[in-house]
Amino acid sequence: MRYPRIEIDLNKIRSNTQTIVDMCHRHHIDVVGVTKVFCAEKEIVEQMIAGGISIIGDSRIENLIKLKSYDLPKLLLRLPMLSQVEAIIEHVDITLNSELRIIRALSEEAAKKQKRHQIILMVDLGDLREGIFDEETLIRTVESVISMEYIDLIGIGTNLTCYGGILPDKDNLERLLAIRSYIEKTYNIPLKVVSGGNSSSIYLLESGKIPEGINQLRLGESIVLGRETAFGLKIKGTSQDTMILQCEIVELQEKPSVPIGVIGMDAFGHVPTFEDHGMRQKAICAIGKQDVNPDDIRPLDQDIKILGGSSDYMILDVTDASKKYQVGDIISFSVSYGSVLSLFTSAYINKVYVSNE
Ligand SMILES: *Cc1c(COP(=O)(O)O)cnc(C)c1O
Repeated sequence: MRYPRIEIDLNKIRSNTQTIVDMCHRHHIDVVGVTKVFCAEKEIVEQMIAGGISIIGDSRIENLIKLKSYDLPKLLLRLPMLSQVEAIIEHVDITLNSELRIIRALSEEAAKKQKRHQIILMVDLGDLREGIFDEETLIRTVESVISMEYIDLIGIGTNLTCYGGILPDKDNLERLLAIRSYIEKTYNIPLKVVSGGNSSSIYLLESGKIPEGINQLRLGESIVLGRETAFGLKIKGTSQDTMILQCEIVELQEKPSVPIGVIGMDAFGHVPTFEDHGMRQKAICAIGKQDVNPDDIRPLDQDIKILGGSSDYMILDVTDASKKYQVGDIISFSVSYGSVLSLFTSAYINKVYVSNE
């Protein structure tokens, strides 16, 4: 067995997908399954597909290319780079856009390849990440886009709770729907997609407050970890323990809680502070900040405390644990969105798939 490893329960991922897709379908909402957090590992993508997602969404084109053998439409979640336009027309079906200059480049490349490309215009409803903020700019962009022969404007969308922490609610989503109606009436075109956000929109479904007309959500964390992200609550009928991190103890010794000598900077340039709790039993695990930020994981044994880490090591206080740990023992941790992102990105973490029925 190779450590450190992240163990992924494929059945739980499939079941989470099914539960969430069913909930969305009851509200006439299609699910874009977002695969970026686990670097689009195929074993997991296949469970999302089996669970009923309609579209595969990822922020990295490399991931969408890796998934090209899967039949579902591919949506690029991050705004296209001008330098990427050729690859996008080749490999991506739908992009989210906010810049006319980039849509023009997509249009030219699409015409060159004689290949239609679908776009969703992003509207910034106040979170201040991506999206057209000014309504006049939005209207001018629509006017230009509808004259582009190889570009299909299929809808509008928004992203919330990412930079500004703004929650999706009845007010901002109804504004999105009003913009849709205005564009449809003014230009006499159908906008079939209204993409109403990410896992932070799930709470509106659960409380029955999602405005009618929102018909797509782009969901990553809610599927992977069974949590909505507006309030961080568990989603009914889903599992949160879909993935467990395991790492190995390489040193276990009794040491003081306060370092000895003059304190300068730690490995990351911060000046650390310490409280004196006397001598403690400390375990060092072979996993480091190159793989995961220790603040983003939690020991399953709640009597273990994470003290900190450096690029290659994580230091734990195991004094209060009821189990007597030894060098070579494996310690397990639950993961969060941030830790899943970095653990999958790290080539040093062994990814292990299990199917517990
Ligand atoms: C990452 C991302 C999502 C998915 O977010 P979750 O919180 O994981 O559901 C949706 N939309 C966009 C544009 C994204 O970048």
